[in-house]
Amino acid sequence: MTRSIDSLLASAADGNRISSDEALLLYTEAPLHALGAAADTVRRRRYPDDIATYIIDRNINYTNVCVTACKFCAFYRAPKHSEGWTHPVDEILRRCTEAVDLGATQIMLQGGHSPQLGIEWYEQVLSAIKAAHPALVLHSLGASEVVHIARTSGLDYATVIRRLSAAGLDSFAGAGAEILVARPRTAIAPLKESGQTWLEVMETAHRIGVESTATFMMGTGETNAERIEHLRMIRDVQDRTGGFRSFIPWTYQPENNHLRGRTQATSLEYLRMIAVARLFFDNIAHLQGSWLTTGKDIGQLTLHFGADDLGSVMLEENVVSSAGARHRSNRTELISLIRGAGRIPAQRDTLYNHVVVHADPADDPVDDRVHSHFSSTVLASV
Ligand code: SF4
Repeated sequence: MTRSIDSLLASAADGNRISSDEALLLYTEAPLHALGAAADTVRRRRYPDDIATYIIDRNINYTNVCVTACKFCAFYRAPKHSEGWTHPVDEILRRCTEAVDLGATQIMLQGGHSPQLGIEWYEQVLSAIKAAHPALVLHSLGASEVVHIARTSGLDYATVIRRLSAAGLDSFAGAGAEILVARPRTAIAPLKESGQTWLEVMETAHRIGVESTATFMMGTGETNAERIEHLRMIRDVQDRTGGFRSFIPWTYQPENNHLRGRTQATSLEYLRMIAVARLFFDNIAHLQGSWLTTGKDIGQLTLHFGADDLGSVMLEENVVSSAGARHRSNRTELISLIRGAGRIPAQRDTLYNHVVVHADPADDPVDDRVHSHFSSTVLASV
């Protein structure tokens, strides 16, 4: 068995495609360091400049009103709940301006599925942001929002995607994927669209020319085989479209929701997933490690398990933090984490172009204004 795992790791490190069964074998049985080394070999071949990236962006959660009631979600409020809110367009614009002033290049609009918000509201928000900040990239919404808008406004998915794109949407965020496999998805989000529908919307978007990322929320009770099946479902679509720019796994946060008590994925499971994802996704360019849900030390370690990106400074985040993610960071710290991992830090844009390469530590920015704000600080102002 050890020899077959060794030869499988060597083959995967050489860039040969691995099957779902092989990915499961590596995920469950490969020695941790050998698994990480194979994934790091693949990463180094893709990015021989040894650069690891981060982005400055802001998540703007425009409403917490939601009819989908996912069991893992601590953020939403049912329609008519006294704590429900929806930001006016002016407030969304104010937050965008604040983000631009702090150097953000990207906005992620993410929110609940409010029955009050149809396609016209989204078009108004997107076009208002683009009019005020033409250079700001709107990497926002996602397949779940498309399904919701289609239902609310009586439109098909392609029409919703075309209208959002025409209003200013640049690309879809990968949120809402959670776990795409039917059994665990139904257990944690029975009212959400199926995994097949999530993929169908993304495939439609890619064919229209709207690219996206793909995510995975680990640790809500899925089996190891279901974890690998989630990867397989995404890889199959990517084979047909090439529209997923990045894969972003993160760990479920267990506080303040109806799944409380379920086990989170452990740090080692997370690192193994990062490594297997790098080996499995021979067709997805980028792999993002999460410091937000797993902590900065694990985030830094992902850079040795195949990740080439640490994601966002998170000028604002309310959804994952509502469920217990307490980790905060800032630009200086992310640069230092990347440098500490022996890599060259670079700020990137949404398309992974390097905006600033921090080649010389002596020139590292010391900018304590560019740091994370989560629920405790942001919700006071909603
Ligand atoms: S995760 Fe999104 S869709 Fe699900 S309840 Fe929360 S806000 Fe609604």
